[in-house]
Amino acid sequence: AFDVLVVGGGPAGAAAAIYAARKGIRTGIAAERFGGQVLDTLGIENLISVAETEGPKLAAALEQNVRHYDVDLMNLQRAEELLPAGEDGLVRVRLASGAVLKSRTVILSTGARWRQMNVPGENEYRNKGVAYCPHCDGPLFKGKRVAVIGGGNSGVEAAIDLAGLVSHVTLLEFDGKLRADEVLQRKLRSLPNVTVLTNAQSTEVLGDGQKVSGLVYTDRLIGNSHRIELEGIFVQIGLLPNTEWLKGTVELSARGEIVIDDRGQTSVPGVFAAGDATTVPYKQIVVAMGAGSTAALSAFDHLIRTPLP
Ligand code: FAD
Repeated sequence: AFDVLVVGGGPAGAAAAIYAARKGIRTGIAAERFGGQVLDTLGIENLISVAETEGPKLAAALEQNVRHYDVDLMNLQRAEELLPAGEDGLVRVRLASGAVLKSRTVILSTGARWRQMNVPGENEYRNKGVAYCPHCDGPLFKGKRVAVIGGGNSGVEAAIDLAGLVSHVTLLEFDGKLRADEVLQRKLRSLPNVTVLTNAQSTEVLGDGQKVSGLVYTDRLIGNSHRIELEGIFVQIGLLPNTEWLKGTVELSARGEIVIDDRGQTSVPGVFAAGDATTVPYKQIVVAMGAGSTAALSAFDHLIRTPLP
């Protein structure tokens, strides 16, 4: 059995595994795809130690550093069930392969995925104008025209944020009205370079083969189609935590995020969590790394206080 088993191999999981291994305890990490969302990212400009890096480069560095320690790295392994500790004091994680891993503590760091529009052109122009993270990619569109898809809090926050950087923002909401908090809507309406379109269903991302050049949407009231010329599209219609497999075992928020305290403790004894899969505010690489180290230190603290049965 492991002392610490990390489930998920993104920035949070890598940080947790390294912090645990540095305590000299038996550490394992099981990940469906080691590297996580970082593998899908091109430029990263907010990793504090470097002006710029690339996702695949960072993912390779994370793996190399994890392998530098005595960590049992199990890649391409999907966890399907978590079983809280019984009398033997061991938490169990059942993998899709059928194998069951046992550990005194478990750190859940299965991350999240952005909900997509699922329209033609979206995948083709992902990272070529189609973006999901305004904190990450906003500065790439300085002085350019962008659209934000989604009129909830995250969409309206993104539009306000981007309006200070780009030349013009068009916010498109499918529904008849925005769902964001009134204070955010008031701020949005006060900005001179923002246009808000409601009842607007995005139907296609246009591009020139290299990068985004426009967006097509349907006015749901009239039924006709319009085209907006622009350089960037920020999709803000939800971040879905990869926690479906934990439903009924670990306390989740209404959005499906693993509820943690400020030490990364979940509702299940000996089970900790970190990163985008949790209720942590702000989903970012450096935030996930910090949370992973917090969860590992908390797991270690739990181990030294919990006698073996
Ligand atoms: P993830 O990176 O999502 O990793 C989750 C891990 O868990 C993966 O290994 C996954 O395979 C695994 N997993 C999931 N389910 C299971 C399961 N059931 N069993 C086993 N393993 C499982 N942030 C920045 O700070 N700067 C940026 O520039 C930036 N750009 C981004 C660009 C894009 C296109 C995207 C999508 C995100 C970007 N982010 C950026 C956000 C950043 O990538 C995330 O905040 C960060 O990766 C979260 O780390 P994590 O470890 O919590 O989760």
